[in-house]
Amino acid sequence: MTGPFALSPLPWDESALEPVISARTIAFHYGKHHKTYVETLNKLVAGTPYADMKLERVVQATMGAAEGSKEKTIFNNAGQVWNHDFYWRSLSPRPGKLKGRLAQAVERDFGSAAALIEKLATEGKEQFGSGWVWLVSKGGKLGVEKSANAIDPMAKGINCLLTVDVWEHAYYLDYQNERPKYLQAALEKLIDWDFAAENLDKEDHVVRAAAE
Ligand code: MN
Repeated sequence: MTGPFALSPLPWDESALEPVISARTIAFHYGKHHKTYVETLNKLVAGTPYADMKLERVVQATMGAAEGSKEKTIFNNAGQVWNHDFYWRSLSPRPGKLKGRLAQAVERDFGSAAALIEKLATEGKEQFGSGWVWLVSKGGKLGVEKSANAIDPMAKGINCLLTVDVWEHAYYLDYQNERPKYLQAALEKLIDWDFAAENLDKEDHVVRAAAE
């Protein structure tokens, strides 16, 4: 594969998230959907200034492009490459414990870890059509956001801590139409809380970089 943007390796084996997410789902989701976003993005940016930008910059620079424009298509593919990289890293077969500064912030802003999981599950379920649900931090305060299609809070310079993909391709082979079952299982069994905690500590850096 040629082009400036790469298909990042998965942080675990394709079967590592079983039984919550099957190897078959990961094989299609990573090996077909995610890979195609990377390949399409590389074709679209060839010969444009976007080819020399960091992926985050491409997403931020094309956010809000007009429907039907080439920039909008670049946004959709760049956004989906970034979102999937972030999603794979949000999941782990060894999710660890919510602890330290993140645990304190969750208690302060949601009341408990269970309440946070319920909020993520509800927002993810209520996202109409394809999209994502996110845990974000703004000025150290945590929040839950949902987004449609390729959109992500990062595009607006908001610090993301974790995400769950709620496009049908993320769960249909394992759960058919039952998005809430997939969300509940993924949130309870697979969230990499250490990854989320690392991202909380990066907020100042992320916000500064987006403002440059
Ligand atoms: Mn996906």
